[in-house]
Amino acid sequence: MSQHPTMPASQPRPSSPSAAPGRVVVVGAGAAGLVVARDLARAGVAVTLVEASDHVGGQLATIRLAGLDIDAAAESFATRGGTVAALATELGLAADLVLPRDSPAWLIAARGAAHPLPAASVLGIPGDPRAHDVAAAIGLRGAWRARLDSIVPLRRPEAYGNLGDLVRRRMGARVLDGLVAPVVRGVYSTSPDELLLELASPGLPDALRSSWSLGAAVERLRAASPAGSQVAGLRGGVHRLAGELERDARAAGAQIRLGTRVASTDRDGVLLDTGERIDGHVVLGAAEAAGAARTRDITVAIAVVDAAGLDDAPRGTGALVAEGATGITARAFTHSTAKWQWLADQLPPGRHVVRLSYDEMPDDPERTVIADLGAVTGARIDRVIDLDVRTWTRTLQAHPAAVGQDAVGEASSTTGLASIVAAARETARTIAARISTEATGAHSGDPEGSR
Ligand SMILES: Cc1cc2nc3c(=O)[nH]c(=O)nc-3n(C[C@H](O)[C@H](O)[C@H](O)COP(=O)(O)OP(=O)(O)OC[C@H]3O[C@@H](n4cnc5c(N)ncnc54)[C@H](O)[C@@H]3O)c2cc1C
Repeated sequence: MSQHPTMPASQPRPSSPSAAPGRVVVVGAGAAGLVVARDLARAGVAVTLVEASDHVGGQLATIRLAGLDIDAAAESFATRGGTVAALATELGLAADLVLPRDSPAWLIAARGAAHPLPAASVLGIPGDPRAHDVAAAIGLRGAWRARLDSIVPLRRPEAYGNLGDLVRRRMGARVLDGLVAPVVRGVYSTSPDELLLELASPGLPDALRSSWSLGAAVERLRAASPAGSQVAGLRGGVHRLAGELERDARAAGAQIRLGTRVASTDRDGVLLDTGERIDGHVVLGAAEAAGAARTRDITVAIAVVDAAGLDDAPRGTGALVAEGATGITARAFTHSTAKWQWLADQLPPGRHVVRLSYDEMPDDPERTVIADLGAVTGARIDRVIDLDVRTWTRTLQAHPAAVGQDAVGEASSTTGLASIVAAARETARTIAARISTEATGAHSGDPEGSR
């Protein structure tokens, strides 16, 4: 994937024979497009889903490494709202919903020391800077500076331009650089200074409005989030959702056209790069087609390694790396076989699946991965059995959809499966209701539909 300018409006062309009033054309068969197409088809709407590549899923992708099918990008989903679990259940996957091992994330500080991330925190922002694990991670001076947050009056959320600005002004540079920046880089592939408050954490602006300090707002957010794990996964990998959504959508009558690239869109449909036109209400599920305004490349190396020193999971399920950490190029590490029991069950002791994220991968990936694994975990890596390195483009912000079109997923500046699934389902409901109302109006002879 790469960044593209907004697609030009297409010239009118002869419509395809399938074009009909009430038809919907969904562009892109990632999680968002698949959910919309499946829900619309099940609601009885005539829908065509057009996907440029030869497979569905987008960032819900799989790779085969050392005989294992592994998630290549997304590998878990937020349990917030229960939306993804509900969808998985509808798709017959309830028995395969799994929780990761319960273990704190670790933080590798700029000077190389490893500490568990403060337990009572959101995005690395501590609820109580006096907690001993805060001082252990950023030093006493940093923890003391952070305590000013509880003395200086909090301003309205609008007074803080972005997450970086908020944390720096409230709790100081050490909290920002030592705790928040590594988490934000690991989760959002960006810096806190580029992250708007509402994108950082959906409830943060409201929590700030009703709190006297940033720490209190963090505590409020923590109290509001359900007990238990914040993320869940699927036995076999979350990429299974894509295959099941495709199957269900086809069974409900959706047309899915793979290897079919949309060249441009307009109010009445899409033009394919073959020159064929498909008419219908357009739903953009491809950030490229929406014209991504701000993107960030992230390189992910996934390796199957022999390393007996990893058997005890020295960094739990993973670690986040502070910028400039000596001798480490990676910015985040996930110990996949420690995180997911179903994956560990497929390998003998001493063999592990690990995942490292990079802003940019140096020339020798295998050497870099071995060195980084050693530095982050302290374990010696005996052998790399298999290695996959690929670069993904994530859309941090897309242009708003054109008038008369809808956008879902990253094409609507939404990121992460939980938010994307919830919003895509809502979009499908709204479109289906509108089409149903229009059809009722047409049948009753009312030219403006039912009022
Ligand atoms: C490395 C990585 C790890 C991640 N980990 C997690 C995680 O653990 N949990 C989580 O919730 N989220 C995670 N995410 C984010 C999550 O995967 C994405 O936000 C989500 O999958 C995006 O779905 P989407 O449908 O919006 O877009 P995409 O998945 O990008 O789908 C867009 C689709 O549109 C197609 N397309 C593009 N242009 C055209 C065109 N012109 N015509 C037709 N088709 C086109 C593409 O081929 C693609 O299939 C991760 C992302 C990455 C890259």
